[in-house]
Amino acid sequence: MFKEIRNKITLFTTLILISFLFLFIIFFVFLVQKGIGISGEIYLHNIAMDIIEDSSESNDFNGKKANNDRLGYDYIIWNESDNVREMRVDNKNLIIKGYEYKKTATSLGTFLYFDLDSNRYRYYGKEFYIGTEPHVVQVFQIVNVEQILISYLIICLFFVGIGGILILIPISYFIAGKAINPIKKNYEQQKKFIGNVSHELRTPLTVIHTNIEVLRLKEDEVLANNLHWLNNISIEVDNMTALISNMLILAHADSKHAIQKIETFDISAVCAEVTDLMFDVAKEQEVSLISNIPKGIEYKGQEETIKRAIRILVDNAIKYSNPQGQVTLTLSDTLRFIQIAISDNGIGISEEEQKKIFNRFYRIDNARDRSTGFGLGLNIADEIVKMHNGSIKVESEINEGSTFTIILPKTII
Ligand code: ADP
Repeated sequence: MFKEIRNKITLFTTLILISFLFLFIIFFVFLVQKGIGISGEIYLHNIAMDIIEDSSESNDFNGKKANNDRLGYDYIIWNESDNVREMRVDNKNLIIKGYEYKKTATSLGTFLYFDLDSNRYRYYGKEFYIGTEPHVVQVFQIVNVEQILISYLIICLFFVGIGGILILIPISYFIAGKAINPIKKNYEQQKKFIGNVSHELRTPLTVIHTNIEVLRLKEDEVLANNLHWLNNISIEVDNMTALISNMLILAHADSKHAIQKIETFDISAVCAEVTDLMFDVAKEQEVSLISNIPKGIEYKGQEETIKRAIRILVDNAIKYSNPQGQVTLTLSDTLRFIQIAISDNGIGISEEEQKKIFNRFYRIDNARDRSTGFGLGLNIADEIVKMHNGSIKVESEINEGSTFTIILPKTII
């Protein structure tokens, strides 16, 4: 699919380039042709004026001045009775053409172009007086070279253009690839996400289905005897609810909404609330939960989400601690940052895994038996902290323990 899109973008940009090139060639050739034409016409006009000047000065014109100074033109001077007074023309057909033009009033004072005997001519005709007698001077110039030059120019531009396009096609293919890369990555992520979600939902749904089937078989029994199956269903429903609410949080974070409901709150109180809440959970796992929270530290952000992030880290620290382990939450306030460090002396995380644990649905294998989670917790905590322009730092060693530190800049918003 992406290959097709990439090819289409390349084709599209190439077509645009070709159209631009085509327009550029037309415009450029037009300008060059116009430029050469205008200078040629000025040249022809000056010749005509020189001839007029010469022949007005003396009755005995021999075209000397024009002849000596300039080359590459023919001329005819007609008198009033259509006789040739002077000329420098070898070609009989050109004299006939000149005669035709002499008879056409519109051919005077303008520049004309015509083909004759496989040559292209530029023509200029002008009326003037010798004494009181009206005359007409006609100047002709062969412009074949100009035509050839223009044709060469077009051919050159065409080949340069083709060369340019041949170079540009791989470049635009490369750029198209770069441009669709983020979309591709996003698409792959979404695909993986949907795959993971379906996988995570299938397990509880299968459990629910199985338990319902068991209950169906026991339809004659009293409900009190079958609470076990109902409990199983209830646990899986809770699991699914948790998964869906986690996904909603991530979807919200993904849509990159600016965080709403920002207010200054007592982060010391929030940390204390989390440790209070988790105290029993820790006790149940024989883990002691120690809090190191200076009172009255304030922070401006979104209280609910920050609380959720801290809770995820404390929950993990307890979950991945060994019995008799110790989890410590330390809040500190520096000049520019608020830091919440949650450390445990549990199973630890290898350096290799530390890079992956924030990925969506990532779980380390050895955590599977301890975890009832989906591998979304750290990803959610990370998104929350990032929304506050902060970061989470991990320091950990296998079998030694881990410290997760939430670093929140004070002037985020
Ligand atoms: P889970 O639902 O599996 O806990 P998380 O995203 O919260 O998902 O964590 C991802 C993985 O990171 C866990 O499966 C676990 O292997 C590892 N992990 C997280 N916190 C700790 C910790 N404090 N000590 C050791 N491993 C941890």
